[in-house]
Amino acid sequence: MNDCLFCKIIDGEIPSKKVYEDEHIYVFEDIAPKAPVHVLVVPRKHIRSLKEASSEDKELLAHIQLTIPKIAQQLGLDAGFRTVLNTEKGGGQEVFHIHYHILGGGPMPFA
Ligand code: AMP
Ligand code: ZN
Repeated sequence: MNDCLFCKIIDGEIPSKKVYEDEHIYVFEDIAPKAPVHVLVVPRKHIRSLKEASSEDKELLAHIQLTIPKIAQQLGLDAGFRTVLNTEKGGGQEVFHIHYHILGGGPMPFA
């Protein structure tokens, strides 16, 4: 989708601090971190939100969830981490390309 911030980040049109990538996902540091470690896990496929995901995205969503602990380990979050998925405006979503937040590295709760 042309006008999507996260599609532009994935395409390299807008700079980001990459922490991980594979065939299906791109992971980068949040620009306004709410914890000592705060990264965003974004599928390369543009899906507006969890509400718009369909059964054909089943394997992709499973891949994201099962890869998150590996990313957290890479980031040194041995004590654990929080995963957040905001859905649509009422759920606090601001960028309408589905993404999981990984937060950790300090005392809870995060701001
Ligand atoms: P959400 O409210 O769940 O849609 O989260 C959007 C997140 O994207 C927020 O935590 C923002 O700080 C983050 N964000 C916005 N623009 C950028 C950017 N250019 N690079 C990295 N993170 C961003
Ligand atoms: Zn997008």
